[in-house]
Amino acid sequence: MTDSVTDKNAASNADFKTSPLIPVADALKRLLEDVKPMAATEIIALGEGLNRVMASQSIAIVDVPPRDNSSMDGYAVALSSLNREGETTLPISVRIAAGDNPKTLNPGTVARIFTGANIPLGADAVIMQEQVTVSGADVCLPANIKLRQNIRPQGQDLRVDEVLFPVGKKLQPADLGVLASAGISQISVYKPLKVALLSTGDELQEPGENPLPGKIFNSNRAMLKAFIEQLGMQVVDIGKVADTLNATKIALAKAAERADLIISTGGVSVGEEDHIKTAVNALGSLNMWRIKLKPGKPLAYGRVANTPIFGLPGNPASAMITFALFARPYLLQLQGAEPIQALRFKAQAGFEKLKPGNREEYLRGIYADGKVTPFNNQSSGMLSTASRANGLIIVPVDAVIDFGDWVEFVPYSELFA
Ligand code: AMP
Ligand code: MG
Repeated sequence: MTDSVTDKNAASNADFKTSPLIPVADALKRLLEDVKPMAATEIIALGEGLNRVMASQSIAIVDVPPRDNSSMDGYAVALSSLNREGETTLPISVRIAAGDNPKTLNPGTVARIFTGANIPLGADAVIMQEQVTVSGADVCLPANIKLRQNIRPQGQDLRVDEVLFPVGKKLQPADLGVLASAGISQISVYKPLKVALLSTGDELQEPGENPLPGKIFNSNRAMLKAFIEQLGMQVVDIGKVADTLNATKIALAKAAERADLIISTGGVSVGEEDHIKTAVNALGSLNMWRIKLKPGKPLAYGRVANTPIFGLPGNPASAMITFALFARPYLLQLQGAEPIQALRFKAQAGFEKLKPGNREEYLRGIYADGKVTPFNNQSSGMLSTASRANGLIIVPVDAVIDFGDWVEFVPYSELFA
């Protein structure tokens, strides 16, 4: 049994080493086609809704704004009370502040009115206070007042019974504000995914432990836990896994039982200490892909029993970038969210790259003053530059870049929120 697994593994390693490199976009497309979205839903209070994904439509229960109201501090009047030409002086008959429920305006008078206050019946224009002259209880209004000027009409923002968001909408702060404005206090959302996280590697120690010779601190765990939680999902922390086939199988089986998706780091290379591939093959099915991506060439994707697994590379910068490019969109779609495209923009290169590469490169860099500049050292083992960067500079396959060329930049805010 052990021999046949080893043989199978040796053969697949050989195949893998010569298998073609898959472009990033193709790999992502194939991954997303394999998503089977989770369906469990729950009702939550609006205040808990940040980053959650709508599972049913929300319908406005009122018009927003609910009544015509003033967009200015000023005076409300009926155009029919004004002289046809020139100025008009009228008495102030009433004062209306935001929150008041005004009576009909007496013809031939004006209402003192404030921003957000309801327009009284009978009035059809508001004149801003800077344009009038007040003397005692009278106000002199200018000529040329337009019908409905400075009035925000009822329902201008939202209409009663309007569908506010489609199913699959991932809620941002302004979305919660919109729902609140429409009177919604509870929403139906998908239950947060449970994502199992495990770190393979005998060299790993947890921060807080005494540094031992030969060991390094586990950085992927803290980073990925935060990325997952930022998506509104729950981490099932499986912890550290020893570099043996048996320990890897036990950890994966436990992870598959407890979570909707598994993310592991390390152990996906072709070394003898790399057991993820063999373990996943034994418990389910595995696809090992060589991606046209730097950093992050090897990516393992498959299923342990029915639970999808992403085997991310161990090098922290590779783990970060493969998470951002592949695991994150997959997770969002698994959570029921509509596909979200990370926005990129063009900026001028503050660097040159004279040697073309055969993989799409994602350089950790800084955008400032219209220019993007990568850090000098792009080693996939270095995480400090990933943390100092504010985004990734994308260098296409085969591209040569001169100072001032336009290159694409994806800010972190598009990848990690
Ligand atoms: P591997 O893919 O297991 O061969 O690991 C590749 C490199 O990443 C090695 O230098 C590992 O020590 C390092 N590495 C793996 N996992 C982690 C981790 N969780 N935190 C920091 N470095 C790691
Ligand atoms: Mg390892």
